[in-house]
Amino acid sequence: MSNLLNGKDVSAKILARVAEQTRAHLAAGGAVPTLAVILVGEDPASQIYVRNKHRTCEAMGFRSLEYTLPADAGQAALLARIEALNADASVHGILCQMPLPKGFDYDDAAVQQAVLPGKDVDVFHPMNAGYLSLGTPRFLPGTPAGVMELLADAGIPLAGKHVVVLGRSNIVGKPMALLALMADATVTICHSKTQNLGEITRQADILIAAVGRPRFVTADMVKEGAVVIDVGVNRLEGKKVCGDVDFDAVAPKASWITPVPGGCGPMTIAMLMQNTLKAATALGALAAEGQ
Ligand code: NAP
Repeated sequence: MSNLLNGKDVSAKILARVAEQTRAHLAAGGAVPTLAVILVGEDPASQIYVRNKHRTCEAMGFRSLEYTLPADAGQAALLARIEALNADASVHGILCQMPLPKGFDYDDAAVQQAVLPGKDVDVFHPMNAGYLSLGTPRFLPGTPAGVMELLADAGIPLAGKHVVVLGRSNIVGKPMALLALMADATVTICHSKTQNLGEITRQADILIAAVGRPRFVTADMVKEGAVVIDVGVNRLEGKKVCGDVDFDAVAPKASWITPVPGGCGPMTIAMLMQNTLKAATALGALAAEGQ
């Protein structure tokens, strides 16, 4: 039977560290770290995420600002809100809760480049994505960095290991692969057009699922003793959530496994807090210069 990679415990340690660093920053006369979150529309899951971010900010000693726009506000209104927050020197981090409602265009360069890179705590801006791909990230992408922290906390090394990432999204799969590569893993990225998926996943020493399909990873896809990380959050009927991994079937084969909930989710928010503090301190000067 596997060991659990407990995101609640590990994130609590990281949050305690961020809160401590924030106290020191404030005691030294630093500005109160401020995160502005924009929510477009009324998606209930997004509302919960925004509420959690607000609560966690307050626990860190941060200032938390929330802006809500109607689902049909349109791209221009969103960009105008971001522009105003960019111009506000007291705001250090800005994020727009994803996913945006229908009608918003993620591929629009104006949307991708809207948040100043120095305030881009969600790592969306092409400049921050570029720094990451060069192996010199300014901000660490939240969910993938949370996975790396979980592995580090358990003392699971990546160097020389075969990491297989299921999913190639800009928010999880791709940055996850880049962080694993930076940690000297041999990395394979799979996606919906990958052939013979099971043959590849069975080679993984560390298998990371970010597919968005309930219980997609079955026991026959996992090597005995593999580390299995489940990034997926799939809403079932009612309020229940499940991951991308068939936990009950896979856990007996895995050496380590993340539960859902309580695995990667709490880590993402902890990394966001870390980025916000960084934006208010080390990177604050960059944002002030309009970067
Ligand atoms: P996404 O943008 O929908 O990407 C899903 C990826 O999975 C795509 O690259 C897709 O391939 C691939 N895929 C889909 N079906 C597949 C199949 N049959 N075989 C192999 N690959 C397949 O989703 P995402 O934003 O990356 O999120 C993934 C999951 O993580 C979701 O459940 C999401 O809710 C969760 N998530 C959790 C957190 C957290 O904090 N825990 C944060 C973000 C996301 P193509 O590119 O070919 O379409």
